[in-house]
Amino acid sequence: MFFDFVSLRKQEIDKEINGIHINAVLIKKSSLVDFKATIKGDIALTCDRCLSDCEINKTLQCDFKISNRSCEDDEVMYEFTDNKIDIDFIIESEINAIKSDYFICEKCNDDDEFEFNLI
Ligand SMILES: [Zn+2]
Repeated sequence: MFFDFVSLRKQEIDKEINGIHINAVLIKKSSLVDFKATIKGDIALTCDRCLSDCEINKTLQCDFKISNRSCEDDEVMYEFTDNKIDIDFIIESEINAIKSDYFICEKCNDDDEFEFNLI
């Protein structure tokens, strides 16, 4: 899903991709686009301790800016230099950021006695 940077004024997005629900609004302010979104759904994670696969219901709040040129602004998280804002790419990146976070499953969390046995 692409939006044209030049013609964009305000755009609301309400859709579901692979069981992940995205509710977002893009508002262009001068040369930057405000991106505010709630991304919600079951995300498959692997426990960093026992390596079991879990599905965790996550709600992610996004609030950052998008630019169509490279800039130094700390609030700018994404830069699309071809004037096309790739929403799917942003959402995928945000979900991947959750996946790459350190994650401990409920079972391991409860198990304080857990020790990693190297054989
Ligand atoms: Zn675990």
